[in-house]
Amino acid sequence: MLFFDKIKLFLLDCDGVIWRGNQAIEGSIETINYLYQKGYKVYFVTNNSTLTKEEYRKKFSVFGLNVRPEQIITSAYTAAYYVHTTLPHVKNVYIIGETGLVDAFRQYNYNIVENTIENRVDLVVVGMDRQFTYKKLYYGMHSILYHHANFIATNLDPTFPLSNDRLAPGAGAMIAALERCTNMSPQIVIGKPNVFMLELIFQQNPGINPKDAVIIGDRLTTDIQCGINYGIHTILVESGIDERHNQNLEKTIKPDLILGKLYDLITYIK
Ligand SMILES: [Mg+2]
Repeated sequence: MLFFDKIKLFLLDCDGVIWRGNQAIEGSIETINYLYQKGYKVYFVTNNSTLTKEEYRKKFSVFGLNVRPEQIITSAYTAAYYVHTTLPHVKNVYIIGETGLVDAFRQYNYNIVENTIENRVDLVVVGMDRQFTYKKLYYGMHSILYHHANFIATNLDPTFPLSNDRLAPGAGAMIAALERCTNMSPQIVIGKPNVFMLELIFQQNPGINPKDAVIIGDRLTTDIQCGINYGIHTILVESGIDERHNQNLEKTIKPDLILGKLYDLITYIK
């Protein structure tokens, strides 16, 4: 594949590309270390908002990979950055999500509201939440309908790949619940296929042309569509969510290359 000659920057999705749950996908860590050795810039670009940057760094280090916090771009930190830069009226935030999302909004000193019946809320932000409850749904609904809070989502992934080859509900399932009871959709969705996370990376690397970058992901509708939207190269790996049986998707969202797994990349960049 000719486009590898010019590539300087690799953007890697995590779930379904590097690992499934807590299990590394065979050869993925070796491949990333190989990219490091060859001097490529590597960023990790994940819609998964559940972990903090420090938790991601630790997860990588358990697999034997050194990753600096600035290499980790998640929908959670990007959401907090987006709110910080575009919604100056927001002070009080209700979060449906996990530590990654809470930590991201704490970094910008937002007041994280626990009870939205007693306290005013300016923004509801929703990501994947494995402790999702009726009460959280109710508090989110109350904020949107009665405080007229802004409603933003980290990502709409319907599912999430587990280590046993099965799927679990993704952030999109929580967001759909809130959409249903408020009859409102998120004003903005931060994660892929939207390009906010990529914009952050290219802001940090002003010398790199989008044509010299490639995104590698397992989902056509998020990773590959995001790469196409931003004008970078795209590689689909088949080690995570398999959407290729959906012929309509296959016809409309075409990656530059399809690999079985990340490790197969090594043969292209000797
Ligand atoms: Mg993925």
